[in-house]
Amino acid sequence: MMFSENVAQAVGRVSMRSETFINGRFRPARSGETLACITPIDGSEIGRISAGDARDIDDAVAAARTSFEAGHWRKMGPRDKRKILLDFADKIEANADELALLETLDMGKPIAHTKSVDIPLVVQAIRYYAEAIDKVNDELGPAPHNAVSMIVREPVGVVGAVTPWNFPLLMASWKFAPALATGNSVIMKPAEQASLTMLRAAELAAEAGLPEGVLNVVPGDGAAAGKALALHMDVDSVVFTGSTAVGKLIMGYAAQSNLKRVALECGGKSPQIVMEDCPDFDAAANAAAWAVFYDQGQVCTAGTRLLVQNSIKAEFLKKVAAVAKGLAPGDPLDPATQFGALVDETQMNTVLGYIEKGASEGATLVCGGERALGQSGGFYVQPTIFDGVTNKMTIAREEIFGPVISAIGFDNFDQAMMIANDTIYGLAAGIWTKDLNTAHRAARTLRAGNVWVNCWDGSDITTPFGGFKQSGFGRDRSLHALDKYTELKTIWMQLSS
Ligand code: NAD
Repeated sequence: MMFSENVAQAVGRVSMRSETFINGRFRPARSGETLACITPIDGSEIGRISAGDARDIDDAVAAARTSFEAGHWRKMGPRDKRKILLDFADKIEANADELALLETLDMGKPIAHTKSVDIPLVVQAIRYYAEAIDKVNDELGPAPHNAVSMIVREPVGVVGAVTPWNFPLLMASWKFAPALATGNSVIMKPAEQASLTMLRAAELAAEAGLPEGVLNVVPGDGAAAGKALALHMDVDSVVFTGSTAVGKLIMGYAAQSNLKRVALECGGKSPQIVMEDCPDFDAAANAAAWAVFYDQGQVCTAGTRLLVQNSIKAEFLKKVAAVAKGLAPGDPLDPATQFGALVDETQMNTVLGYIEKGASEGATLVCGGERALGQSGGFYVQPTIFDGVTNKMTIAREEIFGPVISAIGFDNFDQAMMIANDTIYGLAAGIWTKDLNTAHRAARTLRAGNVWVNCWDGSDITTPFGGFKQSGFGRDRSLHALDKYTELKTIWMQLSS
């Protein structure tokens, strides 16, 4: 097996930053403790990262507060701020190959995807919010002739961001880019499974001229560093992407501490609905498969509940299964690989546990269902499809966060809508139909923050992203994201004439 040789070579080609980044400097965690950085490609330890805890969070918050009060960033002219963020984006782009390699080593997604999707989208996000700095205006309100009513946005202050491992730097950039663009000072707590790109990115931000203390990174366990950040009395806002269970804890920490602002991007169990008048079976089957198998199913918007009208279900699932069978898991470092590893052994075992549960609750395994490439030492699971799923089964209700499709049959439109909305989540939903009326009726009926018609995952940095129900609240991406990082202030000036 070549995987280990490839890992060793790749590790030699990256600069691995592993310590906390506080006030513009790398330094070990106060405790001196470290966490193993295991690559899921072959299960080997490729380094160790600082295990930040409450003391490091205290230091990072103090640095952020000092920088915020000093105003070196907050009060900087809009065009100067914009230039620094654009330079930061340029540096990410110039180091894109290294960042893509770090991401693939750290969390196992194919290098083909980190190069063509993750890192380019990070650059796009930073540039978009940099450009917003000198293009978004405040408001003047109606007022009598001898008064001025101003409605201005001010930075919320010190922002803490707790982020996941599935698109590590991309999810982080959807937080730090708008937070920085609006003049805040920020502390990032990346996921313990994948912190390497955020640490390297912070170094690049400093090289681009971001003043010290404005962007800090404290890696470490969620229950130590993440909790301390969300509980901190001097953090003004906490923004989170991750599971619904941890999102609920974060809300609790905010309530127990200083009523800091909270925004949550949580999990999903998204329905993809295929009507019998689907315009293109092959395109829909391909999209339905990739809606779950992309990033090995570790995508919050994964369309894991595949609702297919019974009249076409057998024929349609055959096509989806053909796509799944063509997607053999492979070495994520091989540029030809399209389907890589799960993030770690725990996640692999969780996914295999759900597969067992699906079979034991009576669903029919169509393909996959096994661990793959076990001799590599890495953490791989075959693309898996279950048919005969009912919406009551565990694999239709809980977020698996792995490459598992749960196919559910339905007879008519109303039944499809009822099944689709019968979930605690509301992140995404999609429908395939030729009929404009059906499409529009579905789009308005589905309770989800993103609805796709005859596609999956159509989106852009200009469109808001976030969920209904227990998928969270607050929006990433688009100019609406700026709301999370600003307070509205009304200034009413009484004049003498
Ligand atoms: P997770 O909830 O386990 O962890 C997310 C982050 O929270 C990590 O940084 C972790 O260290 C931290 N954390 C864990 N326990 C904590 C605690 N007690 N206090 C504070 N922080 C804590 O999620 P994950 O496994 O990293 O990511 C997968 C989840 O993220 C899935 O549920 C997925 O749907 C969700 N996700 C959502 C979106 C979205 O935009 N809606 C995007 C990506 C991922």
